[in-house]
Amino acid sequence: MIPLEEARSFVLAGCRRGPVATVALDDALGLVTASGAVAGESVPPFANTAMDGYAVRAADVVDAPVRLRVAGTVRAGESGRDAPVGEGQAVRIMTGAPLPPGADAVVMVELTDAASDGGSVVVREPVPVGNHVRPSGDDVVPGDRVLDPGTVLTPGHLGLLATVGIRQVEVVRRPRVGVISTGDELVDDGSPLAPGQIRDSNRLTLRALVAESGFEAVDLGLVRDDEAAIEAALLDGVGRCDAIVTSGGVSMGDFDFVKVVLDRIGDMRWMQVAIKPAKPLAFGTVARPGDGAPVPVFGLPGNPVSSMVSFELFCRPALRRMAGHADADLDRPRVRAVVDEALRRKPDGKVHFARVTCRYDDATARHHVASAGAQGSHHMAAMAAADALAELPDGPTVEPGATVSVRLLRP
Ligand code: AMP
Ligand code: MG
Repeated sequence: MIPLEEARSFVLAGCRRGPVATVALDDALGLVTASGAVAGESVPPFANTAMDGYAVRAADVVDAPVRLRVAGTVRAGESGRDAPVGEGQAVRIMTGAPLPPGADAVVMVELTDAASDGGSVVVREPVPVGNHVRPSGDDVVPGDRVLDPGTVLTPGHLGLLATVGIRQVEVVRRPRVGVISTGDELVDDGSPLAPGQIRDSNRLTLRALVAESGFEAVDLGLVRDDEAAIEAALLDGVGRCDAIVTSGGVSMGDFDFVKVVLDRIGDMRWMQVAIKPAKPLAFGTVARPGDGAPVPVFGLPGNPVSSMVSFELFCRPALRRMAGHADADLDRPRVRAVVDEALRRKPDGKVHFARVTCRYDDATARHHVASAGAQGSHHMAAMAAADALAELPDGPTVEPGATVSVRLLRP
């Protein structure tokens, strides 16, 4: 067995940053920028009002209360040029509308009393110059850097780019990840189970994990335990994907042909990682037919919990690396948490990843974990209920009150 860190480093070393592409902002959420951007426009593009009210000359309301003649209205979207504010005048103005010529302040409507015919308004209090006015360029001016390379695009970044009129962005392309299930026992069409059959769940969960990580999942199908079929599916996948994830067929069984085929067509390393679940792991590359580019292939164990934990520990960080994320930002967030009830285990030379639920306790300002249920590698109920994986170092049961390192799956 090799330590988790060694296996992880080996996998990461085989996964390089993917190619750069220009994408519309609509398709850019969560992607990592490959270049920066500089604003070519001011935000706001013109001085405008932050409040509904009246545009005035501050000098006219110094002796408030005063009555001003209402000379017009400016709505958001209008230029306001045809409604100048002369001495002793006010212009009705709506939030976001440009400050009309002559005005230098806005009085919010709550501090005014309009005459019933709308012809005049009493301003009850004086206001300073610039009151409720958002000056042009107050937020961004042309030349401001609005995006750095290496940024993970959030809704806020997309909004900032949109507001300065940038409509597309250069990013590391979203990895396309092919997912294959293997096994003669698997059924995926909803039909009643014949004796010996089980349903294919891994293909769905692994595709969902790929999608949840922000990548594009490609369904490469459910493949029988047959060398030719497995080879065809793998070659189809490496032809049109940036990485392949398989589940099943990598153990010591007589019909574990994924191992046989990958050994023949790929450059693979078969690892026994000192973890539980997910001890067996295959990782390597298969040359893409045509250009010969090395496509990373992850051979995950077949047991459903193992395949999910293996995805978390190896695939997700590796795919994030391919997507351009910084090496310090590949893993799920970690916290230390207090164990509320014993997390059972025996010494076996492995680090255990227990499926747990994790909650933050405001009163003590600490995270707490409890088992999410039965901990076998086929126990999907606990995996589904878990929102975190607790790392139990090799040794005996972790007793209540002890603290453990926890990876948050759903922070
Ligand atoms: P294998 O690695 O092929 O020997 O599979 C190990 C265990 O995982 C067996 O009990 C399989 O039936 C189960 N298994 C393999 N693939 C899947 C799958 N796609 N969905 C659910 N269970 C699976
Ligand atoms: Mg199998």
